[in-house]
Amino acid sequence: MKKILLTVIMILMLVSPVMAKEVIVVDNAIKPMETMTIDNRLFVPLRSLAEAMGAEVTWNQAIFIKSVKRPEIVGDDKFKILITQALDLLKEKDPPDYETVCTYTKQIIFTPNNDEAYAHSEGSDKINICTSLLNRSNLSTEYIASVLVHEAVHLCNVRYYFSDIRQNENMAYLRGIATLQILGATQEEIIGTELTRQKVVK
Ligand SMILES: [Zn+2]
Repeated sequence: MKKILLTVIMILMLVSPVMAKEVIVVDNAIKPMETMTIDNRLFVPLRSLAEAMGAEVTWNQAIFIKSVKRPEIVGDDKFKILITQALDLLKEKDPPDYETVCTYTKQIIFTPNNDEAYAHSEGSDKINICTSLLNRSNLSTEYIASVLVHEAVHLCNVRYYFSDIRQNENMAYLRGIATLQILGATQEEIIGTELTRQKVVK
C-alpha cells in the first residue's frame, strides 16, 4: 500500500502540480485546505474534506478508505463516557464492527426505564440503551461494545433484509459474540452471551 502511494506521489511530483491553500466553507465556518492543481484540475485531500464535514476517516484493511460518522450520544456525562469508551475500543481493535455501528446508527440514546432488554434498536437509525444494561454487575467496555454491534446488525437487517425475528436475533447475537472474542472479553462473558442466544433463538 505504501509503495503504491509513494508511486502515486512521485508521478504527481513529475507532472509538477501547483500547490495552493484554499478554504472551504462548512456550516458557515471557514476551513483551510491544501489543494493541488494538475492540468487545470483541482485536487482536494479526501481526509481533510471528509473531516471538515464532520466525518471520521479510518483505513479499511482492504484497499480503499471509507468515511464514517460517529453516532450522536444522547444521555448524561456518565453515559457519554461509557459509550465513547466502547466506540474507541471498537475503533482500535475491531475496525469492521466500528464501521458497522457508525454506518447504521445515527443516535445512541440512554433510556431510563427498567425494560428487561438491555438495548433495542428503533426506527431506522437509533439504538436505545436501557437502565438495566448500565446496572448490570461486571459491566465491561467490551460488553457495551458488543451490544452496540448487536443492535447495529438489527438496524442493518431492518434496512436491507427481511429475515424473520429469530433469524435476525441469531445473526445479531453471533456477530456480538464474535465482537467479544475479537475484543478479548472474558470467557465468562462470551459463554453467558452464547447461553442467552440459545435461549432467545430456541
Ligand atoms: Zn437483538
